[in-house]
Amino acid sequence: RRVLLTGANGFIAQHILAAYLEDGHSVRGVVRSQAKADQLASIFSKYPASQLDFGVVPDITTPGAFDEVLKSSPPFDTVVHSASPFNFRKNSSNLEFLDPAVKGTTGILKSIKAHAPTVRRVVLTSSFAAIVNGGAGKTNPPKVYDESDWNPVTWEQALVSENMGLVYQASKKYAEKAAWDFVRDERPNFDLVALNPPLVLGPLYDPSAVARAADLPESVFGIYASLARPGLGPADPIVPGRVHLYVDVRDLARAHLLAAEVPAAGGRRFLLTAEQGNMTYQRAANILRERVPELAATVPRGEPDQAQPEEGSYDGSGALAREVLGLTFRAPEETIADMGRQLVAFRERA
Ligand code: NDP
Repeated sequence: RRVLLTGANGFIAQHILAAYLEDGHSVRGVVRSQAKADQLASIFSKYPASQLDFGVVPDITTPGAFDEVLKSSPPFDTVVHSASPFNFRKNSSNLEFLDPAVKGTTGILKSIKAHAPTVRRVVLTSSFAAIVNGGAGKTNPPKVYDESDWNPVTWEQALVSENMGLVYQASKKYAEKAAWDFVRDERPNFDLVALNPPLVLGPLYDPSAVARAADLPESVFGIYASLARPGLGPADPIVPGRVHLYVDVRDLARAHLLAAEVPAAGGRRFLLTAEQGNMTYQRAANILRERVPELAATVPRGEPDQAQPEEGSYDGSGALAREVLGLTFRAPEETIADMGRQLVAFRERA
């Protein structure tokens, strides 16, 4: 395969890149600057230029932004579009979330249709944020989300809301909807697979490339700040309730590979939640205390036997991904402990 991967330097995308490279495919990683391409090249320096090259697209909202990077010999057959704003510490305005998500998605699909007719499949990194109704609260019986669900947020709400979580949910919903509309209306040579992961946890591909704790990926930072940062002790309180449904970043990367390879995946979206995907801070704390000796003395203790989500909390099913993609999910102990072992070093990099 010859693959174009956008947002290639991202937390998730580095694992996607590794999954494709380890499987022997050839990838062009697209990033926003040459400096980011150089950093990625050094992380993946064991791969030859024939297997890994780079493209720079400074602004994905510009019409035709992807035209040049899509020209390749050998030509591309697969595009993985993962670039999208997901950092509440870096992006602060509504349009900073909405525009790149939606215009980036429609822009790349248009460019593929016009300039890369050999592409047969596009894999879109969407999100559980496009699925979950953030305002629904607890219900009896608990809501179990699946691929038929879409969050109810409207574009008008997203433009004016001061809740950036809601704005992010809208950015992912409208980006994914735009992609489905595009393949329906434009009938391009490619089909589409959308992957909808909830909170993504697990180790960074290369922790030495992240200088400071403040630069940790958005989805890892929450566990660091709540359970692993310096200054915490066993008596500190644990945020009640859940972290979120979650998936391991390595399982998600493998899903991106399977999504390109499994013919029956075409035209579908997949909710990718770990088998025991209900992760609470208490449960994560229990795992860190048991499995990461360097953290055992400082992780808040909380109430170790109260590790379940609160009654009525929503759930989700990864059954379709297991069935169609053949994806398996690793155990939470492995995800949290591997992540925790890395977080130890960040305590000195505050
Ligand atoms: P990162 O912030 O680590 O990666 C995001 C990537 O998108 C980076 O390459 C970043 O480039 C790029 N990007 C961000 N904003 C823009 C923009 N305005 N224009 C162009 N590129 C941009 O986040 P993740 O790896 O966690 O997220 C990757 C994808 O996965 C996103 O689509 C996100 O919505 C989705 N996702 C993430 C989840 C999670 O829990 N982590 C859960 C569900 C979905 P740069 O480095 O230059 O900023």
